[in-house]
Amino acid sequence: MIVLGVESSCDETGLALYDTQRGLLAHALYSQVAMHEEYGGVVPELASRDHIRRAIPLLEQVLTQAALPRNAVDAIAYTQGPGLAGALLVGASIACGLGLALDRPVLGVHHLEGHLLSPLLAGDRPDFPFVALLISGGHTQLMRVDGVGQYELLGETLDDAAGEAFDKSAKLLGLGYPGGPAISRLAEFGDPGTYQLPRPMLHSKDLNFSFSGLKTAVLTLVKKQTVNICEQDKANIARAFVDAIVDVLVAKCLAALKQTGLKRLVIAGGVGANRQLREALNAAAQKKRFRVYYPELEFCTDNGAMIAFAGAMRLQINPDAAKREYAFNVRPRWPLDELRVV
Ligand code: ATP
Ligand code: MG
Ligand code: FE
Repeated sequence: MIVLGVESSCDETGLALYDTQRGLLAHALYSQVAMHEEYGGVVPELASRDHIRRAIPLLEQVLTQAALPRNAVDAIAYTQGPGLAGALLVGASIACGLGLALDRPVLGVHHLEGHLLSPLLAGDRPDFPFVALLISGGHTQLMRVDGVGQYELLGETLDDAAGEAFDKSAKLLGLGYPGGPAISRLAEFGDPGTYQLPRPMLHSKDLNFSFSGLKTAVLTLVKKQTVNICEQDKANIARAFVDAIVDVLVAKCLAALKQTGLKRLVIAGGVGANRQLREALNAAAQKKRFRVYYPELEFCTDNGAMIAFAGAMRLQINPDAAKREYAFNVRPRWPLDELRVV
């Protein structure tokens, strides 16, 4: 069965074809980052309009890559939520329009389920059950995952998401948008220990997070620089920030593994691309004897492949999960643990 995936929840338009027999056949992505950069963040209306412009050319691109005609698609999976309402509506209407035109069933997919299952697209795939750390631009959650649709929330952020903390701290240092990759690169040049930043909720004895205080601490440090902040100081602050957030993320993962007694840890979402975090987790995994799995770098941030894959996984469990019903609604807010098996 060939599933077309359509992702449009934020500022990336992603299309992909996943075959349950042969795996990922093709995927294409257009990132609107350059367009939103001058505003320092995503402008929802611009995002929606751009998804309209990009979706069909990307569809043609994946069909050409896979050397398949449109009617080779058996079902269409699209991101139904959570995300920006207007952006989601574009993807949903394109998916349902295609479904109607091709007489194929459609299926709304949860964006975070896409992120969560994306490590299963990699060559080295984890078996269920596992602990998942979902760290993206809008979410920071630890979950126990027993199978597709079997998600138990273990802990989450009480305020900012990890990606948001990266982006906001980067902005304070005058780095571009999105700031995650930029602050991570800059941190490589910083001297560790020059500055100490708090590790929020490190000893909270639960699996929750809080990152807004960390961002405020970065602001305080930046403001303390009386003269113009020099490049080395910026790098030192970046280093202090990355060290603090990585410490907290690693500690909470270890606590979640201990609490569940599981030996497999899966990282998902954009911050999962972070180099310092991967190094720290790999070192911890060796020392504490657990295994850690990551998505391919290109599938950490938003993409169509994870939506096609999540749709395909659900359809394998229940072929009736996709329907020839083309009236659609989107769910800008949609807690992941509301999902059921199928
Ligand atoms: P959500 O999935 O919660 O709706 P989102 O889709 O915007 O949010 P993702 O696309 O998964 O989030 O990830 C984007 C986030 O990942 C941004 O905050 C970005 O700064 C961060 N990010 C990407 N690469 C890195 C990196 N190398 N280091 C740190 N952060 C990174
Ligand atoms: Mg994005
Ligand atoms: Fe995302």
